[in-house]
Amino acid sequence: MTVDGPSVLALDTAVYVVPTDAPEADGTLAWDETTMVLVTARAGGEQGIGWSYTAAAAQSVVTDVLAGVVVGRSAFDLAGLAEAMARAVRNIGREGIAAMAISAVDIALWDLEARLLGCPVTTLLGRVRRDVPVYGSGGFTSYDEQQTRRQLSGWVEKDRIPRVKIKIGEAWGGNERRDLERVALARDVIGPDAELFVDANGAYSTGQAVRVARQLADYGVTWFEEPVSSDDLAGLAVVRSQVLPDVAAGEYSWSLAGSARLIDSGAVDCLQLDVTRCGGISEFLRGAALAAASNLQVSAHCAPNLHAHAAAAIPNLRHVEYFHDHQRIEQMFFDGALDPHGGVLTPDPARPGFGMELKAADAERYRHG
Ligand SMILES: [Mg+2]
Repeated sequence: MTVDGPSVLALDTAVYVVPTDAPEADGTLAWDETTMVLVTARAGGEQGIGWSYTAAAAQSVVTDVLAGVVVGRSAFDLAGLAEAMARAVRNIGREGIAAMAISAVDIALWDLEARLLGCPVTTLLGRVRRDVPVYGSGGFTSYDEQQTRRQLSGWVEKDRIPRVKIKIGEAWGGNERRDLERVALARDVIGPDAELFVDANGAYSTGQAVRVARQLADYGVTWFEEPVSSDDLAGLAVVRSQVLPDVAAGEYSWSLAGSARLIDSGAVDCLQLDVTRCGGISEFLRGAALAAASNLQVSAHCAPNLHAHAAAAIPNLRHVEYFHDHQRIEQMFFDGALDPHGGVLTPDPARPGFGMELKAADAERYRHG
């Protein structure tokens, strides 16, 4: 290995489609399976893995567009590789599929560099903390009372996670009564002390979101995610100015520019960022710095085992989302998936990279490409 680092030899890809353990829905979407595109980057006798929860189309972006600017370049040139990938997608549009493909590759490259150096990603990044606080996230609108009780009590009583989030805004905001009944149920299940968050996934209109938030405050709800569409920055800012819970958004921030727009428009009390969407670890760090400059905290969206490392490295972290679907897939697919007991994830300092080893035989039955 030279000081420049070995060249990236190849980017291999795999697509997995994993059925959910029950039908799932939020305010604006229903689903029964999750697609993961996994990237393996090889250099110097090591391999790094990264992934995004996306559509299979992201695989073609990796092989047809990104591999050409990554393969052959030093595996240590992470900033240069991130910039090269961002430039390569100019004509196909960076937002959405391309951003998720870039994210998966960038994550694989961070895992690869850490493995080449024989250290965890947290060591490369520089730790602020060892333990990363998480909140349990699920509470789908498709769940009945028994399913909701079982999931929320599992997090709060069994796993000792002191904060949870449920979905509201059922049927594009068309079932406010059930939304509030489910919030009341959640508060009943988790008791008075655990923090209660809600996510409307953009289901409400601005005025409706303000009216709903007034009632949410009665149940001690402190986090109102995407009360209106994240495309409506002015609407988010209006809601934020009129409600007690913190307003959060950012899961569709596909680059630094998207995060800047959310911050500059006064749309959020806490910026959400997702390493599997925003451009990987590289862009996550820049987004977190941007938020810090405006005295905002960051909450990591989904993919908990990747975010545990990134979140350990940013001073202005609030928490990481321990999302039901993704933690389930990561437990199924990887040795090294972290345990959220006590409400924290603690990256293992003895494991290199992200500390995750693919259980290839277990994953293979879900392989679609
Ligand atoms: Mg959300």
